[in-house]
Amino acid sequence: MNSDFHTHTILSPDSRTPVEEVLKAALDRGLEAVAVTDHAERNPAGFGFFSPYCQSYETYRAAVEHAVARCEIKGKLTVLLGVEIGYTIEEDALARAFLSGCEFDVILGSVHDSYPIDMFRPESGEMLKRDPDLGVETLVRYFTQLEGAASSGLFDVIGHVDLYERYFPGLWPDPFQHPKIAPLARKAVQAIAQKARMEINLDMVNKRGHFSWSALRFLEMYREMGGKPPVAGSDAHRPEYVGLHIAEAERLARQAGFAGLASWEDVVASRRQKGRTVLY
Ligand SMILES: [Zn+2]
Ligand SMILES: [Zn+2]
Repeated sequence: MNSDFHTHTILSPDSRTPVEEVLKAALDRGLEAVAVTDHAERNPAGFGFFSPYCQSYETYRAAVEHAVARCEIKGKLTVLLGVEIGYTIEEDALARAFLSGCEFDVILGSVHDSYPIDMFRPESGEMLKRDPDLGVETLVRYFTQLEGAASSGLFDVIGHVDLYERYFPGLWPDPFQHPKIAPLARKAVQAIAQKARMEINLDMVNKRGHFSWSALRFLEMYREMGGKPPVAGSDAHRPEYVGLHIAEAERLARQAGFAGLASWEDVVASRRQKGRTVLY
């Protein structure tokens, strides 16, 4: 199933890509569907969208609608109005209040909050090497938050379960073996299997040519726990990554024992059961 469920545009603080460029890239790639999933999370102004170009749901929806109208995609590409929520258990009520006032076709829940090791800072690699206990503490917290995200019931898809591997591959404790981490990682995957879907995140494949070493293990565990077919997300912040290597995600899904990736219709149907949808 040729759909990319995770893309970012200029409506996110960390991308400069106009929405139209994402839609054009999806068309060029021959995708059936693309979800625009810009970041919404806690920020100095409250909880929600927080790019210089977009601070409200209304602005967000209007900007995507405008791009859809300009691209003349009817009959060629389905565009899903999505969002990637940066979730923490502590901010659950804020996320819930924000989402209760919006309609989306697909809602991604991701954990970006990372402590004491920041998964996004260049110096974190040195910290991990110097003090492996900090890595343990960070993953204990990460998988606890991830379980909270899945259990919240707010999300259709849980994004990049293996995010910590993205910038510091091989430096983390083994989440399937470590006595403090493994039970929490298992609980998180179980909650995803029960309440959401797992995303196969393509960022590492697109930029480094391979999945994280743990991607297949998580997916197998998720399938054994009864998880629904997973979705693929490029997590593209630039147009050239939109829909890139979806076939690799399909291959990984089959390797884990699924018949294939979820269709966009299946994912939207699950959202419809929970609330109203938009769909272009
Ligand atoms: Zn993310
Ligand atoms: Zn993302």
